[in-house]
Amino acid sequence: MQLNARIPSGPIEQLWDETRFNMKLVNPANKRRHSLIVVGSGLAGGSAAASLGELGYNVKCFCFQDSPRRAHSIAAQGGINAAKNYQNDGDSVYRLFYDTVKGGDFRAREANVYRLAQISVHIIDQCVAQGVPFAREYGGTLTNRSFGGAQVSRTFYARGQTGQQLLLGAYQALERQVQAGTVAMYPRTEMLDLIVIDGHARGIVTRNLVTGEIDTHLADAVILGTGGYGNVFYLSTNAKGSNVTASWRAHKRGALFANPCFTQIHPTCIPVSGDYQSKLTLMSESLRNDGRIWVPKKKGDKRPPNQIPEEDRDYYLERRYPSFGNLVPRDVASRNAKYVCDEGRGVGETGLGVYLDFADAIRRLGRKAIEERYGNLFDMYQRITGEDPYEVPMRIYPAIHYTMGGLWVDYHLMSSIPGLFVIGEANFSDHGANRLGASALMQGLSDGYFIVPYTVGDYLATNKLEKVNESHSEVRNAVACVQQMTQKLLAINGKRTVDSFHRQLGKIVWDYCGMSRTAEGLQTAIDQIRELREEYWHNVRVPGSGDDFNQSLEKAGRVADFFELAELMCVDALERNESCGGHFREEYQTPDGEAQRDDEHYSYVAAWDYRGYGNREELVKEPLEFEYVHPSQRSYK
Ligand SMILES: Cc1cc2nc3c(=O)[nH]c(=O)nc-3n(C[C@H](O)[C@H](O)[C@H](O)COP(=O)(O)OP(=O)(O)OC[C@H]3O[C@@H](n4cnc5c(N)ncnc54)[C@H](O)[C@@H]3O)c2cc1C
Repeated sequence: MQLNARIPSGPIEQLWDETRFNMKLVNPANKRRHSLIVVGSGLAGGSAAASLGELGYNVKCFCFQDSPRRAHSIAAQGGINAAKNYQNDGDSVYRLFYDTVKGGDFRAREANVYRLAQISVHIIDQCVAQGVPFAREYGGTLTNRSFGGAQVSRTFYARGQTGQQLLLGAYQALERQVQAGTVAMYPRTEMLDLIVIDGHARGIVTRNLVTGEIDTHLADAVILGTGGYGNVFYLSTNAKGSNVTASWRAHKRGALFANPCFTQIHPTCIPVSGDYQSKLTLMSESLRNDGRIWVPKKKGDKRPPNQIPEEDRDYYLERRYPSFGNLVPRDVASRNAKYVCDEGRGVGETGLGVYLDFADAIRRLGRKAIEERYGNLFDMYQRITGEDPYEVPMRIYPAIHYTMGGLWVDYHLMSSIPGLFVIGEANFSDHGANRLGASALMQGLSDGYFIVPYTVGDYLATNKLEKVNESHSEVRNAVACVQQMTQKLLAINGKRTVDSFHRQLGKIVWDYCGMSRTAEGLQTAIDQIRELREEYWHNVRVPGSGDDFNQSLEKAGRVADFFELAELMCVDALERNESCGGHFREEYQTPDGEAQRDDEHYSYVAAWDYRGYGNREELVKEPLEFEYVHPSQRSYK
């Protein structure tokens, strides 16, 4: 199979303008004759559905929560990047582009990243116009803070609730369209399959999560904004409901899955505290603006932090990376936390933790200033740990947070199935092998408000789509597949809960395909995943029936998909014999422990083509070319 990423040629700063100009438009009167399906109502899906509705298309929007307002996007804390240069500190579209390509360790597409940086400035205007209450300076101008991997302050924020405020903006825009009749909202409805007819995405099969009813919805194009798959690790900072099912079922219908092993481990999460924990909590990266990270210099130093004098502390990020200090990118900060803990210098009961200390900042700026910047995060930390971070340093440790991999898309954000568009965290994204902080919200909103509304129009205007109806054999086939899987899961009647399998699967993936990986470990993981998956299909217990509300059944389908994805992640990680960004293969590192890329052999997007249950997927490569930001060893020293 050959992949055509449809990257236009010409000077990079003109590519998106020219592409838009060359796109075919749908006449306003014809738009209402087209029906579109948007799965997902987070920042990506919500903004896309609202924008497409505003344009006049007939949109159906689906989510599994009871309200679009509860999408996982609401959890985003720290902020959203934009190259506005309000701080006059040297930022520009080009610098955001440069930082993102470098931050992603040269595994992202230049054309997409440049467009993202260009659009970033419009996102802020759009959100301000919607009334999103971004933090402001005393005089009223929008203020910024810094995030990892950048030496400028370009992150716009609303305290530690940026995602929530942005989502309320998108939600209001969406509800306005619901009111206007252009968008029909389907909450508590889960997409369980994609309907592909004559090679084009034409609809979805859904299950009503309250009544159990299985239904079909047909349309001229389908847009997935269904989020990331970090919960394959069981423990992650993602919302408990986040899952890969929509993307995975589309993958099984022919959409290529790209770079599945590129997962992000976030350095500042509250450490795991016990075996029965089911969720991890993020402490936003924004805290690294003012918090200083350290561990004791001596192994096994168990003194309380306030009794460890300055000379016995190792501010290891400031020491190793004097230029970026505590604001090195996430992959670098996470790996370094692991190194010091592996050396036996970790803190807390488990030894898997490092300090994030605000004492200096409180002395310098006063407690009130810190409260204003991070108050809700400090409260959250105190409620969870029982410790007061104004008095003692926070304890943090890396945790799974974001997935850079996802369904492969071309420059138009269309997958390898014509008519299936993928946006937000669900696509393989613009972030390469490591995402810089505050760039996911930027990407989701860029995709939803500013890219798919154009590219979907072009698709509709250039493809003549026949009418289809429920009696089509592909529709009936997709419904039968969903029904069979539901029945199969309910009929196993084994001895173990879905959660117990998920927890065990997550541990395998974390141990062997987490913060660091080896060829041997990945092979072990593949064997163990296969074995556990076999047991799952014989021994899982899914109580209740398919005819009504049944959360075990919901989870069972999602975990079945996680099993298959987990294997592909390990296969992908094993195939990539280099280290880049969040993909750290221990065999490939520089003498001082940094990721060692192999541009000659691995400068490509690895897109995987499904080959049937249990079979090895076929690797299709999209070569990456760097005309503007030349690949070099990433240095934050
Ligand atoms: C704790 C935390 C803090 C973060 N902070 C930041 C930050 O400060 N800045 C930043 O840039 N990024 C941040 N991120 C990352 C960012 O929040 C996410 O990447 C982003 O919100 C994803 O948006 P999305 O619209 O792609 O997906 P989501 O918000 O996950 O939305 C997915 C949608 O798809 C629906 N869906 C999924 N599957 C199905 C299905 N099968 N059927 C029907 N509906 C389905 C869901 O119901 C939901 O509506 C943070 C992430 C976490 C976990």
